[in-house]
Amino acid sequence: MSDVILSVLAHPDDAEFLCAGTLIRLAREHGWGVHIASITPGDCGSVEHSAEEIAGIRRQEGARAAALVGAAYHCLEERDLLIFYQERPLERITRLLRTVRPRIVLTHSPADYMLDHEMTSMLVRAAVFGAPVPNFFAGQGHPQALAHIPHLYYCDPIEGKDSLGRAVEPAFRIDISGVIDAKAEMLAAHASQRDWLRKHHGMDQYVQSMRDWCGARGRQVGVAFAEGFRQHLGHGYPQNDLLAQLLGVC
Ligand SMILES: [Zn+2]
Repeated sequence: MSDVILSVLAHPDDAEFLCAGTLIRLAREHGWGVHIASITPGDCGSVEHSAEEIAGIRRQEGARAAALVGAAYHCLEERDLLIFYQERPLERITRLLRTVRPRIVLTHSPADYMLDHEMTSMLVRAAVFGAPVPNFFAGQGHPQALAHIPHLYYCDPIEGKDSLGRAVEPAFRIDISGVIDAKAEMLAAHASQRDWLRKHHGMDQYVQSMRDWCGARGRQVGVAFAEGFRQHLGHGYPQNDLLAQLLGVC
């Protein structure tokens, strides 16, 4: 069985902004299986469709984007702006971890621009710790508990800053110059977000915004495009930097 990397982020297009280049490189260079999960189906990401309509559109966009690079997409069916640190999403993430059985997990920065991202970060941190504990959610039909805690990494916050505008520097960067076009193609699969991001976020060209951000991260270290990460290094979590070992850092 090949090794697996899983990203668990709040919304259907977050992986394509924050970490898809790294996912693509692990698949292409090391043959890893890639799973992309969003906590919600992005049900508030529209001013023209109802929540149910846009959720249906965005589940399909997420699945299509993932399929472009041979990845699987999962939606954990919480709702936009309503992600809380509570039992239901924690149980769903733990079940996903025990099903997919990743060696590496990527999630949001603990400090980010909105609470859905920060809550997701906290939930994933807890689920990664709990997934190897046999009595955690015992009797709920989960697959077997994990053998050990997977490696956990935090992506850059959006625009590399916390909610007070302070810069959040990555611990290391992964060079994604060779896969930036594939990453952009994945993001473009989220076509419903083009108008939404223009109206609500003032981002006229969302694919160009992603390229600009990765270009800025890359320029800091002399490569064309990069993604930044920090590793969760609290007690009990793996301490070796597996992601950096596999893909090199810049
Ligand atoms: Zn998001």
